[in-house]
Amino acid sequence: MIRRELSVSKASVPTIVTAVLLATSSATYAKGDADCVPMPEAEQLQKVVNEAHAKFKDLKEGKNADYIPILKTIPSDLFGVVIATRDGTMYTAGDVDYRFSIQSVSKPFTAALVMQQYGGPQVIVDKIGVEPTGLPFNSKMALEIYKGRSVNPMVNAGAIAAVSLVKASSEDDRWGKVLTNLRDFAGGADLPLLEEVFKSEYETSWSNRGIANLLFNYQRLYSDPEEALRVYTKQCSIGVSTKELAMMGATLANRGVNPKTGKRLLDERSVPELLAIMLTAGFYDESGLWSYEAGLPSKTGVGGGIVSVVPGKYAIAAFSPRLNEAGNSVRALKAIRYISGKLGADIFGPNAE
Ligand code: GLN
Repeated sequence: MIRRELSVSKASVPTIVTAVLLATSSATYAKGDADCVPMPEAEQLQKVVNEAHAKFKDLKEGKNADYIPILKTIPSDLFGVVIATRDGTMYTAGDVDYRFSIQSVSKPFTAALVMQQYGGPQVIVDKIGVEPTGLPFNSKMALEIYKGRSVNPMVNAGAIAAVSLVKASSEDDRWGKVLTNLRDFAGGADLPLLEEVFKSEYETSWSNRGIANLLFNYQRLYSDPEEALRVYTKQCSIGVSTKELAMMGATLANRGVNPKTGKRLLDERSVPELLAIMLTAGFYDESGLWSYEAGLPSKTGVGGGIVSVVPGKYAIAAFSPRLNEAGNSVRALKAIRYISGKLGADIFGPNAE
């Protein structure tokens, strides 16, 4: 708001004073809200969701993830698009009730749990790191390059470390806390563990096992490595629908309070930090391009899901299994990018469509 009002060169002094007062009054301004982003009417929200679905539903670019064998078998043409506003109202198109594996889209939500358990976001800086790696999500090289083996909670290494940080008395308790937290973000939905996905990934988890062991060796993993790996892999194997994912995002848009249950899941003061790491690392080694084009804190997963957050306003979720080289869903990213352009949702100012 300040940026906008002050950039009007002919604004009168009273206008500027009013703008500054409005922007600094706690009633109208909350840390982290994207005040330069307009809040569209219901009709417009439904319209852009329909358009995004129609525009990209026949796109066949990319392919299903195959390094987790079972993901090859998921019907590639599934496609869902949802906007959930911060009060939980949904605008939907396509296969929005189909439950796919959440995969890496789980990562920011477990990072949020860690922030809550440790009294704020500093723990992430101290114990995991917040620098984007600029490398693929499963990079081992990133662990060697970065000082103190810092990564960030949006890539596999940092996410396994986040799971290991969850305060728990046993592996069951750790899993229970992670699962309950994800369900809470989804508004109390009964998100299932997709056993076949878990089995398929855990049986072939040599790369992530290597990462967990390396981190442990560098004292950047805080529980038994195999326990962290198992709970992390279960977390990635949770089934979620596009609607449920949108609700999870809407909780962040609503500054940490779930719109459906009213439960606070992340302190308001921690929301901007979580969104910051989603912006800088949520698309892995494509995060720069994504920020450039869409300007939205987001998280993707190899199951084909993506969630983006317009702070203080709404979340956009999309799902379709075919991925690009970086492991990001082609249709989902195009749909969200389209919506962001149409609604002027870029947090840095309206982006070109
Ligand atoms: N479970 C997947 C893995 O660890 C998650 C990766 C992803 O979604 N990018 O490889």
